[in-house]
Amino acid sequence: MEIKMANLTKIFISKDKKEVHAVDHVDLTIPSGKLIGLLGPSGCGKSTTLYLIAGLLRQNEGEIFFADEEVSEMPPEKRGIGLVFQNYALYPHMTVRDNILFPLQNMKVPKQEAMERTQEMAALVGLEEMLNRKPKELSGGQQQRVAIARALVKKPRVLLLDEPLSNLDARLRLQTREEIKRIQRETGITTVFVTHDQEEAMSISDEIVVMKDGVIQQMGHPQEVYDAPVNLFVAKFLGNPQINVFEGEIKKGKIIVLNMEIATTDKPDQKIIVGIRPEGFMVDETKKSAFKFEVNLVETIGRDTTLIIDTPSDDETLLDKHSFKVIVDASYRIMSGDLVHFKVKPDKMHLFDLDGELLK
Ligand code: ADP
Ligand code: MG
Repeated sequence: MEIKMANLTKIFISKDKKEVHAVDHVDLTIPSGKLIGLLGPSGCGKSTTLYLIAGLLRQNEGEIFFADEEVSEMPPEKRGIGLVFQNYALYPHMTVRDNILFPLQNMKVPKQEAMERTQEMAALVGLEEMLNRKPKELSGGQQQRVAIARALVKKPRVLLLDEPLSNLDARLRLQTREEIKRIQRETGITTVFVTHDQEEAMSISDEIVVMKDGVIQQMGHPQEVYDAPVNLFVAKFLGNPQINVFEGEIKKGKIIVLNMEIATTDKPDQKIIVGIRPEGFMVDETKKSAFKFEVNLVETIGRDTTLIIDTPSDDETLLDKHSFKVIVDASYRIMSGDLVHFKVKPDKMHLFDLDGELLK
């Protein structure tokens, strides 16, 4: 079921009587049958977007369509949505079976059919053995799987997940993430997965949507967005370690960073912002490159070595921090104190204007 939002806007009035444009003229199409990660920092409007799709909130402006059907004014229970929240929201006094069954009793589904569908959902989320347990006898990951089964048992048209993994510890978070991916694949249900965790969104999603201040910044395949961010915000939001961000300059066809030439360009002279991914540096063994640094700290994990390079303390050109990170192959055996010459991989370098928009 394709979900289409057109000019969707939600305005809240804050306690100090200011307008908060939580969702700001959003045009977005969620393709049918895919898992879409809606990603952005806390407060950017992810939950509000989800609740507008669900019908739990009413938009101030704009429309929502499920396929060709407009649902903008439809109450939540008519929309055919399954919702899963961060805090599971299970009934503590009911068994797993009764928790999953509950929505079907509300819908007056005949008992035999309800039991069969409950069994089927429990199998789908891998909890057949747990049907007689109470929520408190389950791990956080299992509880969240009950919540997913309960959302799916109604055969919703779309599944909406609001930070479903945030309450789980690191191991369960990974496991449950894989589970959600598998369940989505098996059911083929159109799914919107909200998270502030870029790694989670990148790993689980068919496509990600990056949001900031109620406005969609970019949508695309996770790797596509990582490789070709449309602005500095997206470039910085994706990737760990973060992209290194420098104030730079184009001067007579040369890109200058920290007073050193790092590359050439055919763009006109101007001040720019240069983003270079940590994996965007190559060690120049010929030592001819002008882009050279003394390495301050070295951390090797497996085949990767992370170099931490402090820039001169009186140098104000490096934005945010006074050091940057470079990831190189551990086989170079670089030690702290070494002077290393680098080249920059062109596809790992992103040039922005001073407003943070991709340089035209
Ligand atoms: P996210 O889920 O991305 O963290 P939200 O959608 O919850 O963000 O919130 C977006 C913005 O709208 C925030 O600035 C938040 O404070 C504001 N907001 C959300 N709900 C309300 C509300 N009921 N009343 C007033 N402001 C709200
Ligand atoms: Mg939220």
